[in-house]
Amino acid sequence: MKFADLHLHTNFSDGTFTPEELAGHAVRLGFAALALTDHDSVEGCAQMAELCKAAGITFISGAELTAEHDDVEIHLLGYLVDIQNRKLLTEIAKFQAVRQNRIREMVAKLNALNIPLEAESVFALANCKSPGRPHVARALVKAGLVANSDEAFGRFLKKNRPAWVPKAKMSAREGIELVHQAGGLAIMAHPGLNRTDDVIPAMVDAGLDGIECFHSKHSTMMSERYLEIADKYHLLITGGSDCHGFSKGKPLIGTIKLPYEHVEKLMSKAGSRRSRMENPQ
Ligand code: AMP
Ligand code: FE
Ligand code: FE
Ligand code: ZN
Repeated sequence: MKFADLHLHTNFSDGTFTPEELAGHAVRLGFAALALTDHDSVEGCAQMAELCKAAGITFISGAELTAEHDDVEIHLLGYLVDIQNRKLLTEIAKFQAVRQNRIREMVAKLNALNIPLEAESVFALANCKSPGRPHVARALVKAGLVANSDEAFGRFLKKNRPAWVPKAKMSAREGIELVHQAGGLAIMAHPGLNRTDDVIPAMVDAGLDGIECFHSKHSTMMSERYLEIADKYHLLITGGSDCHGFSKGKPLIGTIKLPYEHVEKLMSKAGSRRSRMENPQ
Protein backbone atom coordinates (compact mmCIF):
# COMPACT_ATOMS: atom_id res chain seq x y z
CA MET A 1 0.00 0.00 0.00
CA LYS A 2 1.25 3.51 -0.85
CA PHE A 3 1.55 5.97 2.01
CA ALA A 4 2.53 9.57 2.73
CA ASP A 5 3.86 11.92 5.43
CA LEU A 6 2.40 15.39 4.94
CA HIS A 7 3.96 17.23 7.89
CA LEU A 8 7.74 17.58 7.81
CA HIS A 9 10.26 20.27 8.79
CA THR A 10 13.80 20.91 7.56
CA ASN A 11 16.59 23.29 8.53
CA PHE A 12 14.79 25.99 6.52
CA SER A 13 12.87 26.36 9.81
CA ASP A 14 13.34 24.50 13.07
CA GLY A 15 14.04 20.99 11.77
CA THR A 16 17.57 19.64 11.81
CA PHE A 17 17.51 17.69 8.51
CA THR A 18 18.55 19.24 5.23
CA PRO A 19 16.13 18.52 2.36
CA GLU A 20 18.63 15.86 1.12
CA GLU A 21 18.65 14.11 4.49
CA LEU A 22 14.86 14.24 4.73
CA ALA A 23 14.44 12.85 1.21
CA GLY A 24 16.94 10.10 2.09
CA HIS A 25 14.83 9.03 5.07
CA ALA A 26 11.65 9.14 2.97
CA VAL A 27 13.23 6.86 0.35
CA ARG A 28 14.56 4.48 3.00
CA LEU A 29 11.11 4.24 4.60
CA GLY A 30 9.31 3.72 1.29
CA PHE A 31 7.13 6.84 1.21
CA ALA A 32 5.17 7.44 -2.00
CA ALA A 33 4.43 11.10 -1.16
CA LEU A 34 5.57 13.79 1.19
CA ALA A 35 4.88 17.41 1.98
CA LEU A 36 7.34 19.97 3.28
CA THR A 37 5.72 22.23 5.89
CA ASP A 38 8.40 24.49 7.32
CA HIS A 39 7.21 27.24 9.67
CA ASP A 40 6.62 30.47 7.73
CA SER A 41 8.77 29.31 4.83
CA VAL A 42 8.49 27.71 1.40
CA GLU A 43 12.20 28.14 0.77
CA GLY A 44 13.04 24.45 0.88
CA CYS A 45 10.23 23.44 -1.47
CA ALA A 46 12.02 23.88 -4.80
CA GLN A 47 14.93 21.71 -3.66
CA MET A 48 12.65 19.15 -2.06
CA ALA A 49 10.58 18.95 -5.26
CA GLU A 50 13.72 18.13 -7.27
CA LEU A 51 14.85 15.50 -4.77
CA CYS A 52 11.40 13.88 -4.71
CA LYS A 53 11.16 13.90 -8.49
CA ALA A 54 14.50 12.09 -8.76
CA ALA A 55 13.31 9.53 -6.19
CA GLY A 56 9.88 8.99 -7.78
CA ILE A 57 8.08 10.47 -4.76
CA THR A 58 5.02 12.73 -5.15
CA PHE A 59 5.85 16.11 -3.65
CA ILE A 60 3.34 18.49 -2.04
CA SER A 61 4.63 22.03 -1.51
CA GLY A 62 3.60 23.55 1.77
CA ALA A 63 4.18 25.76 4.78
CA GLU A 64 2.95 25.83 8.37
CA LEU A 65 1.46 29.19 9.36
CA THR A 66 0.65 30.28 12.90
CA ALA A 67 -2.75 31.92 13.18
CA GLU A 68 -5.39 32.60 15.80
CA HIS A 69 -9.13 32.81 16.22
CA ASP A 70 -10.85 33.92 19.44
CA ASP A 71 -7.47 33.76 21.24
CA VAL A 72 -7.01 30.13 20.21
CA GLU A 73 -3.73 29.39 18.43
CA ILE A 74 -4.23 27.52 15.19
CA HIS A 75 -1.48 26.06 13.01
CA LEU A 76 -2.51 26.11 9.37
CA LEU A 77 -0.88 23.87 6.81
CA GLY A 78 -1.02 25.46 3.37
CA TYR A 79 -0.69 22.69 0.78
CA LEU A 80 -0.04 22.85 -2.94
CA VAL A 81 0.47 26.60 -2.83
CA ASP A 82 2.24 28.34 -5.70
CA ILE A 83 5.63 28.87 -4.05
CA GLN A 84 6.21 31.95 -6.20
CA ASN A 85 2.91 33.62 -5.30
CA ARG A 86 3.78 37.27 -4.61
CA LYS A 87 1.33 37.86 -1.75
CA LEU A 88 2.25 34.61 -0.03
CA LEU A 89 5.96 35.46 -0.21
CA THR A 90 5.35 39.01 1.07
CA GLU A 91 3.32 37.77 4.05
CA ILE A 92 5.83 35.04 4.82
CA ALA A 93 8.65 37.62 4.79
CA LYS A 94 6.67 39.71 7.31
CA PHE A 95 6.29 36.77 9.66
CA GLN A 96 9.96 35.88 9.26
CA ALA A 97 10.82 39.44 10.36
CA VAL A 98 8.48 38.99 13.34
CA ARG A 99 10.34 35.78 14.21
CA GLN A 100 13.75 37.48 13.98
CA ASN A 101 12.64 40.37 16.21
CA ARG A 102 11.16 37.90 18.64
CA ILE A 103 14.53 36.13 18.94
CA ARG A 104 16.11 39.46 19.93
CA GLU A 105 13.35 40.06 22.50
CA MET A 106 13.74 36.59 23.98
CA VAL A 107 17.52 37.01 24.20
CA ALA A 108 17.04 40.41 25.91
CA LYS A 109 14.78 38.74 28.47
CA LEU A 110 17.37 36.01 29.03
CA ASN A 111 20.08 38.64 29.44
CA ALA A 112 17.92 40.41 32.03
CA LEU A 113 17.90 37.09 33.90
CA ASN A 114 21.73 37.09 33.77
CA ILE A 115 21.83 34.42 31.08
CA PRO A 116 24.61 35.65 28.79
CA LEU A 117 23.30 34.49 25.41
CA GLU A 118 23.88 36.57 22.28
CA ALA A 119 21.24 36.96 19.59
CA GLU A 120 23.93 36.52 16.94
CA SER A 121 24.76 33.05 18.26
CA VAL A 122 21.09 32.08 17.86
CA PHE A 123 20.98 33.45 14.30
CA ALA A 124 24.25 31.70 13.43
CA LEU A 125 22.94 28.40 14.76
CA ALA A 126 19.53 28.79 13.10
CA ASN A 127 21.08 29.81 9.77
CA CYS A 128 17.61 30.37 8.29
CA LYS A 129 15.07 33.14 7.85
CA SER A 130 12.49 31.48 10.11
CA PRO A 131 14.21 31.14 13.49
CA GLY A 132 12.16 30.01 16.48
CA ARG A 133 12.30 28.96 20.09
CA PRO A 134 13.94 25.60 19.33
CA HIS A 135 16.94 27.53 17.97
CA VAL A 136 17.14 29.61 21.17
CA ALA A 137 16.99 26.37 23.14
CA ARG A 138 19.77 24.79 21.07
CA ALA A 139 21.93 27.92 21.37
CA LEU A 140 21.50 27.81 25.16
CA VAL A 141 22.60 24.16 25.17
CA LYS A 142 25.55 24.89 22.88
CA ALA A 143 26.71 27.74 25.15
CA GLY A 144 26.54 25.38 28.14
CA LEU A 145 23.85 27.52 29.78
CA VAL A 146 21.35 24.67 30.11
CA ALA A 147 21.75 20.90 29.96
CA ASN A 148 19.25 20.27 27.17
CA SER A 149 16.40 21.79 25.13
CA ASP A 150 13.75 20.49 27.52
CA GLU A 151 15.39 22.44 30.33
CA ALA A 152 15.55 25.55 28.11
CA PHE A 153 11.80 25.33 27.34
CA GLY A 154 10.85 24.38 30.89
CA ARG A 155 12.84 27.13 32.58
CA PHE A 156 12.65 29.94 30.04
CA LEU A 157 10.84 29.49 26.74
CA LYS A 158 7.49 27.83 27.37
CA LYS A 159 4.39 29.99 27.40
CA ASN A 160 4.40 32.26 30.47
CA ARG A 161 8.01 31.38 31.39
CA PRO A 162 10.29 34.41 31.93
CA ALA A 163 11.89 34.58 28.45
CA TRP A 164 8.73 33.72 26.53
CA VAL A 165 7.57 36.32 24.05
CA PRO A 166 4.16 35.99 22.40
CA LYS A 167 4.26 35.84 18.63
CA ALA A 168 2.23 38.22 16.47
CA LYS A 169 -0.14 36.04 14.46
CA MET A 170 -2.41 36.48 11.51
CA SER A 171 -6.09 35.76 11.95
CA ALA A 172 -7.13 32.29 10.86
CA ARG A 173 -9.43 33.80 8.25
CA GLU A 174 -6.53 35.77 6.79
CA GLY A 175 -4.36 32.64 6.83
CA ILE A 176 -6.96 30.57 4.99
CA GLU A 177 -7.48 33.37 2.44
CA LEU A 178 -3.70 33.74 1.97
CA VAL A 179 -3.36 30.03 1.18
CA HIS A 180 -6.39 30.06 -1.14
CA GLN A 181 -5.25 33.05 -3.17
CA ALA A 182 -1.93 31.21 -3.67
CA GLY A 183 -3.89 28.31 -5.18
CA GLY A 184 -3.50 26.06 -2.15
CA LEU A 185 -5.58 24.25 0.43
CA ALA A 186 -5.77 25.22 4.10
CA ILE A 187 -5.65 22.41 6.62
CA MET A 188 -5.86 22.67 10.40
CA ALA A 189 -2.71 21.07 11.86
CA HIS A 190 -2.72 18.82 14.95
CA PRO A 191 -6.08 19.98 16.39
CA GLY A 192 -5.55 17.61 19.30
CA LEU A 193 -2.50 19.60 20.44
CA ASN A 194 -3.95 23.09 20.10
CA ARG A 195 -7.39 22.18 21.51
CA THR A 196 -9.09 23.93 18.64
CA ASP A 197 -12.31 21.88 18.54
CA ASP A 198 -14.58 24.78 19.47
CA VAL A 199 -13.37 26.93 16.60
CA ILE A 200 -13.65 24.25 13.88
CA PRO A 201 -17.17 25.35 12.78
CA ALA A 202 -15.96 28.96 12.39
CA MET A 203 -12.92 27.75 10.44
CA VAL A 204 -15.12 25.67 8.15
CA ASP A 205 -17.18 28.81 7.60
CA ALA A 206 -13.95 30.66 6.73
CA GLY A 207 -13.13 28.07 4.07
CA LEU A 208 -11.01 25.48 5.87
CA ASP A 209 -10.39 22.59 3.47
CA GLY A 210 -9.26 19.86 5.80
CA ILE A 211 -8.02 18.65 9.12
CA GLU A 212 -4.87 16.79 10.17
CA CYS A 213 -6.47 13.72 11.71
CA PHE A 214 -3.29 11.69 11.98
CA HIS A 215 -0.35 13.23 13.85
CA SER A 216 2.48 11.71 15.89
CA LYS A 217 1.06 13.28 19.06
CA HIS A 218 -2.57 12.26 18.45
CA SER A 219 -3.87 9.26 20.34
CA THR A 220 -5.97 6.71 18.43
CA MET A 221 -9.04 8.19 20.12
CA MET A 222 -8.13 11.69 18.98
CA SER A 223 -7.61 10.53 15.39
CA GLU A 224 -10.99 8.80 15.44
CA ARG A 225 -12.64 11.92 16.81
CA TYR A 226 -11.14 14.12 14.05
CA LEU A 227 -12.08 11.59 11.38
CA GLU A 228 -15.68 11.94 12.55
CA ILE A 229 -15.40 15.74 12.48
CA ALA A 230 -13.89 15.59 8.97
CA ASP A 231 -16.82 13.45 7.87
CA LYS A 232 -19.37 15.76 9.48
CA TYR A 233 -18.02 18.89 7.77
CA HIS A 234 -16.89 17.21 4.52
CA LEU A 235 -13.26 18.10 5.19
CA LEU A 236 -10.20 16.52 3.62
CA ILE A 237 -8.23 14.17 5.86
CA THR A 238 -4.47 14.58 6.18
CA GLY A 239 -1.73 13.25 8.42
CA GLY A 240 1.93 13.67 9.15
CA SER A 241 4.61 13.01 11.72
CA ASP A 242 5.65 16.67 12.29
CA CYS A 243 9.22 15.37 12.17
CA HIS A 244 11.80 18.00 13.17
CA GLY A 245 14.79 15.69 12.63
CA PHE A 246 16.87 15.27 15.76
CA SER A 247 15.56 18.40 17.46
CA LYS A 248 13.18 16.48 19.72
CA GLY A 249 14.98 13.18 20.24
CA LYS A 250 14.42 10.42 17.71
CA PRO A 251 13.28 11.53 14.23
CA LEU A 252 9.52 11.05 13.87
CA ILE A 253 9.42 10.39 10.12
CA GLY A 254 8.01 6.89 9.63
CA THR A 255 5.63 7.07 12.61
CA ILE A 256 2.67 8.24 10.48
CA LYS A 257 1.77 6.50 7.24
CA LEU A 258 -1.16 8.29 5.64
CA PRO A 259 -2.90 6.17 2.97
CA TYR A 260 -2.13 7.62 -0.47
CA GLU A 261 -5.82 8.01 -1.35
CA HIS A 262 -5.86 11.15 0.83
CA VAL A 263 -3.03 12.65 -1.23
CA GLU A 264 -5.08 12.02 -4.37
CA LYS A 265 -8.12 13.73 -2.85
CA LEU A 266 -5.95 16.68 -1.82
CA MET A 267 -4.49 17.07 -5.30
CA SER A 268 -7.89 16.70 -6.90
CA LYS A 269 -9.46 19.44 -4.76
CA ALA A 270 -6.49 21.77 -5.37
CA GLY A 271 -6.80 21.10 -9.10
CA SER A 272 -10.47 22.01 -9.21
CA ARG A 273 -9.91 25.10 -7.04
CA ARG A 274 -7.18 26.27 -9.42
CA SER A 275 -9.25 25.73 -12.53
CA ARG A 276 -12.10 27.69 -10.93
CA MET A 277 -9.64 30.51 -10.11
CA GLU A 278 -8.37 30.52 -13.69
CA ASN A 279 -11.82 30.27 -15.29
CA PRO A 280 -14.22 32.10 -12.98
CA GLN A 281 -17.88 31.66 -13.95
P1 AMP B 1 7.99 29.01 17.87
O1 AMP B 1 7.43 28.85 16.49
O2 AMP B 1 9.23 29.82 17.89
O3 AMP B 1 6.99 29.46 18.89
O4 AMP B 1 8.45 27.54 18.33
C1 AMP B 1 7.56 26.49 18.18
C2 AMP B 1 8.35 25.24 18.04
O5 AMP B 1 8.88 24.89 19.30
C3 AMP B 1 7.50 24.08 17.55
O6 AMP B 1 8.21 23.33 16.56
C4 AMP B 1 7.32 23.23 18.76
O7 AMP B 1 7.26 21.88 18.46
C5 AMP B 1 8.56 23.55 19.61
N1 AMP B 1 8.18 23.46 21.02
C6 AMP B 1 7.13 24.07 21.60
N2 AMP B 1 7.10 23.79 22.92
C7 AMP B 1 8.17 22.97 23.17
C8 AMP B 1 8.66 22.32 24.32
N3 AMP B 1 8.06 22.44 25.52
N4 AMP B 1 9.79 21.57 24.20
C9 AMP B 1 10.38 21.43 22.99
N5 AMP B 1 9.96 22.02 21.87
C10 AMP B 1 8.85 22.77 21.94
FE1 FE C 1 8.47 23.45 14.73
FE1 FE D 1 2.57 23.01 14.55
ZN1 ZN E 1 5.00 21.43 12.40
